[in-house]
Amino acid sequence: MIYRVKHLLHRNRYREQFALLDGLLRNQTLTREQLLDKQQKDLSAIIDHAYANVPFYREKYAQAVRNEANEFAVSRLPILHKDEVIQHRDEMLAGDFDRNQLRIGNTGGSTGKPVSFYYDAHKNELMRAGMCRSYMGSGWKPGQKILNFWGARQDIKGGSSFGKIVNDAIAAEKTIAAYEYTEAQLHDWASTIRSYQPVLLQGYASILAELARYVIDNKINITNTLLGAFSTAEVLYGWQRELIEQAFQCKVFNQYGSREIPNIACECRHGNQHVFTDMVYLESLNIDHEDRLIITSLTNRVMPFIRYEIGDSGRLKEGICACGSPFPMMEMGLCRSNDIIKTRSGKSIYPSYFIHLLDGLTDIKQYQFIQSEPDKITLNLVSPPGLSAETLNSLRASVRREVDENMVLEINAVDEIRRTISGKHRFVISHAA
Ligand SMILES: [Zn+2]
Repeated sequence: MIYRVKHLLHRNRYREQFALLDGLLRNQTLTREQLLDKQQKDLSAIIDHAYANVPFYREKYAQAVRNEANEFAVSRLPILHKDEVIQHRDEMLAGDFDRNQLRIGNTGGSTGKPVSFYYDAHKNELMRAGMCRSYMGSGWKPGQKILNFWGARQDIKGGSSFGKIVNDAIAAEKTIAAYEYTEAQLHDWASTIRSYQPVLLQGYASILAELARYVIDNKINITNTLLGAFSTAEVLYGWQRELIEQAFQCKVFNQYGSREIPNIACECRHGNQHVFTDMVYLESLNIDHEDRLIITSLTNRVMPFIRYEIGDSGRLKEGICACGSPFPMMEMGLCRSNDIIKTRSGKSIYPSYFIHLLDGLTDIKQYQFIQSEPDKITLNLVSPPGLSAETLNSLRASVRREVDENMVLEINAVDEIRRTISGKHRFVISHAA
């Protein structure tokens, strides 16, 4: 009864989100052929929209190849690189949108390049609706409680849409700022799970795994209300999945999406990652011996992302999954391997803290944080114009204030950052452990 009343309040409050969710759930009842047909139509529509309304794409596609029906040959359209998004953000905006009505989002850039982008309220509602559809794969129903462990500081410090739903009773979500933590905090978080009794946990893979390890080591008995733990924003390693499933006695669901293109894929109960073809068009191109993912958002009309090299690797998989989902399957390559920084005082700082430290500093082409000693972190930067002394001082001050008062941040300008043997870029490395 209480659940039904809450659910009604919830639906009423998030009207647009629920209308969008209903649409997404209907798409799930289509056959694979119908979905792929719809995807092709959506793909042509977003490309035509971009060419007609976005100055950047009009120029970029001026020489693009067309087929006999005078449509663009998608597989021959030029790839969109992160550097271009950084340089041409404003020209990537569709002419029919008013800049003053839009918000700006930032990505930490899992490939080591921060990107900022425009979005509107509709994109935000659609992102939330898409996440709800993913959650429902676990048996969760809208209005049931979710506990988030969030590693991105800028989302939690008010002002953002994410901040507004924090601790909202009707939204039935609670968000814990988890960009840094101590043993004492891990203890508090385990207690919060016990008292809040969420149906889902959601958080960065590394933080859920650390919390799981703490729960197991201390033999803490966790509530049995949990239907799933949604891992997001990072590569989820097998050992992390095992820890989380053991500690919380529920299934782990790996989500894949980014801030600029959310809801790319999510794992089902059978452990397969399904691509949401009603939201994205996913290609995999072999570049430098790696299957690079090239993603097109089918829904973002404000600032279209077409054939975007997102910085991850993976490929589509053949076959049908036993779960019955009509969405095709994919597998991720293992990119984005980063370390947790531990301080002398016993604090652990999550890699995304360092990534977000550089948010908005779009002159930075590449970066890498290396903890060489317990009290010293070196930041290597590739940034042609160089950052101002004021910016450098503020970075050092943030690290002293937020990481450890004795932590020295040494900042070096370098010409390039060498990749690992596997060709992956690691942006937070610790040699001090
Ligand atoms: Zn499946």
